[in-house]
Amino acid sequence: MHAAEFCHETPDGKIQCDLCSHFCRIMPGRSGICKVRSNIGGTLFSLNFGAALSPAAEPIENMPLYHFMPGSTTWSFGAPGCNFTCANCQEWQISRQAPDEPGIPFTPPEVVVENALRAGSRSISCTCTEPTVFAEYALEIMKLAKTAGLRCVWASNGYMSPNLLEAVGPWLDAVNIDLKSMDDAVYRRTCGARVEPVLGNLRRIAASGIHLEVTTLLIPGHSDSPGMLERLAGFIACDLGHEVPWHLVPFSPVISRHMRDTPATPPASLESAWTIGRKAGLWYIYCGKAHSDTVCPGCGHTAIERRPWSFGQPVVQLDDNGRCPSCHASLSIKK
Ligand code: SF4
Repeated sequence: MHAAEFCHETPDGKIQCDLCSHFCRIMPGRSGICKVRSNIGGTLFSLNFGAALSPAAEPIENMPLYHFMPGSTTWSFGAPGCNFTCANCQEWQISRQAPDEPGIPFTPPEVVVENALRAGSRSISCTCTEPTVFAEYALEIMKLAKTAGLRCVWASNGYMSPNLLEAVGPWLDAVNIDLKSMDDAVYRRTCGARVEPVLGNLRRIAASGIHLEVTTLLIPGHSDSPGMLERLAGFIACDLGHEVPWHLVPFSPVISRHMRDTPATPPASLESAWTIGRKAGLWYIYCGKAHSDTVCPGCGHTAIERRPWSFGQPVVQLDDNGRCPSCHASLSIKK
């Protein structure tokens, strides 16, 4: 067990965890919503420090990040716990796993970095579950990774506290944030959270210079209404930037934690959302095979061609400055 940072005592004898926007006030003997931070005898402990899950070398495109070091390999991992309780969770078997479950080895931060280097990765990615709830572990790894010349990535639900974002920001090179809806009611109903902290963090990240991409899962009847998607695409375009890539992902009931009776997202919904994004002025919208390539918004040249993941790396054609090889316009790509 690792004593938690990002917390403080409250006058009523509890400890408030300051890692995420739930700001749980935890009494002795109890845990926070994420189940991986416990008040034991008046000290808050991070129970998942060192409990790296699902470590693997994989394409950075899987995060998904399409405009950050395209074609490179990243070393990805997660840790038990999540601060959301999404009914549609596709990683529920590990996000709900107890951190002290037998079979989860302790992996020191330096070993994570050594493994990443040995695999030829150019970055490490905190993903699979929610990096916010293993932030102390992630931070130690990120500091070592930077020293070793690796870049650092988070795939997150964006619910970290502003304080945590300020603390990890200097070590973060790229993030993909899941923006599930613009409706607070949907966040409350499906994830047990609120939308406003996510929107606030998205604005902070966009203003920080950290590379940002956004993902939205289209769940039929929950997050696929044209009106909501117009507001969401408008928010990305106006508040974050026209150049911020937007990934549209179909819902699948087969791998969902609950919502097994909700139908899969029909292809027509993805196509309709793509059109909504274009009307809002977004330059890069990705969904399915039909919209997986990076096309220059200036001249229409296909600069990055993405094959299905199982068939290997994307075909990247950029000039020496990471721009369109045809007209040399910026494609908002970080090499
Ligand atoms: S990380 Fe969030 S959910 Fe977990 S204890 Fe801290 S405030 Fe609560």
